[in-house]
Amino acid sequence: MQSGALQKCIEPTCGLEYPISDIRIECDRGHLLDIKYKDTPHISLKDIFYKRRNHSNDIFNESGVWRFRELLNFCQIDTENFDEYSKCLVSLDGAEGRLSKPYHMSKVSDYVGLKNLLLQPEGYNPSGSFKDNGMSTAVTHAKLVNINKIICASTGNTSASAAMYAANENIECDVYIPAGEVAPGKLSQAFQFGAQVIEIKGNFDDALSASLKKASEVGGYTVNSVNPFRIEGQKTIVFRALEQLDWNPPDWIVYPGGALGNTSSCGKSLMELYEWGWIKKIPRIAVVNSEGANTLHTLYNGKFEDTNLRWNKGKPDVEIIKKYYTYMDKNGIRPKTKATAIQIAKPANILKGLRALEYTNGVVTQVSDQEMMDGMALVGLNGFDCEMASGAVPAGVKKLITEEIIKKDDTVVGILTGRQKDASIPVDYHKNPQNRFANPPRT
Ligand SMILES: [Zn+2]
Repeated sequence: MQSGALQKCIEPTCGLEYPISDIRIECDRGHLLDIKYKDTPHISLKDIFYKRRNHSNDIFNESGVWRFRELLNFCQIDTENFDEYSKCLVSLDGAEGRLSKPYHMSKVSDYVGLKNLLLQPEGYNPSGSFKDNGMSTAVTHAKLVNINKIICASTGNTSASAAMYAANENIECDVYIPAGEVAPGKLSQAFQFGAQVIEIKGNFDDALSASLKKASEVGGYTVNSVNPFRIEGQKTIVFRALEQLDWNPPDWIVYPGGALGNTSSCGKSLMELYEWGWIKKIPRIAVVNSEGANTLHTLYNGKFEDTNLRWNKGKPDVEIIKKYYTYMDKNGIRPKTKATAIQIAKPANILKGLRALEYTNGVVTQVSDQEMMDGMALVGLNGFDCEMASGAVPAGVKKLITEEIIKKDDTVVGILTGRQKDASIPVDYHKNPQNRFANPPRT
């Protein structure tokens, strides 16, 4: 049944393989895993995906994830047999990815100085962030291997998404969060959806370590983005953007940089599409770190020991990563930004992220909290809602245009990763008339 798909170590010099039914987040040598498919999906599927937008009450056609099910068919199901796929696939009634597509936002375009800028609000997913794309696939895999409890660490959005799918599938969910560092709107979702919240003293990286330790002790099923099935679902963010552009790739795809699951999934989707001959050009990825949580920016751009960290065709300098993490620990350097969704110092997917950047000739930049808040406010002035971390996208695009890395006639798709779940940030922003796009109340 499952012979057409497998799990494979990402490191070319290792390459260990495992069946889809294995529950693991790394190979026996500790490397990250990919889901690999043996068959090449036929390009005529583009028409089928488009036709499914008229979903005829099939929630899996309505879903912006499962509409593309042939491109993430790790269950090896008959994708045209409703009785079969409806038993296997996990969906929140077709809501994941249903409303997300790229939009033109004229005020953001004017501000950054780019005519062909499209922004895709993934906050319009059912739990309010891009995480639902990958959670629907990870929980599908959990169901496939008969798991009844999932575990994750979270800055808030992952726990909201995991808890929502767990509630809908009637399975248990434990979420490890850094105490006091999660936006109230996100924490409330975990409680509301019935997850068991475990508060960890420290930051997200500490919470992730604690959750992975617990998962390995009790044989728990981790749904963080180190789970390769999460990455499969997140590929559909790119599929939806490309479909909207009639599969003509933009020059750039821009993401905020946190744990780098998005960068990884973007890279994987582009690698597959290009390899299959579905796209003729590879867009460049731009990752935007927060200045307060800028590990990737630091290592990629040679700001630590003058070494530019690269995937290096599968032979990355992992020692420099370890050295930098030790340096941060020794010197008490902790990630610090009000954009808590990307307040991450040790991005778990850094190697997959580097692979994606190398494949796409990508760049990494960083922006300040103030620039992110300005970006967030500006998206709001176009009638769209996004959280502060997503404000990194307009801010980063503006910076890259100023630096003439993004050219003024380039086409750019930016991913707005989540909607606002901490009302105090925009309220405080708009009450202060000093802020560039403030809309202060009258007294
Ligand atoms: Zn390996």
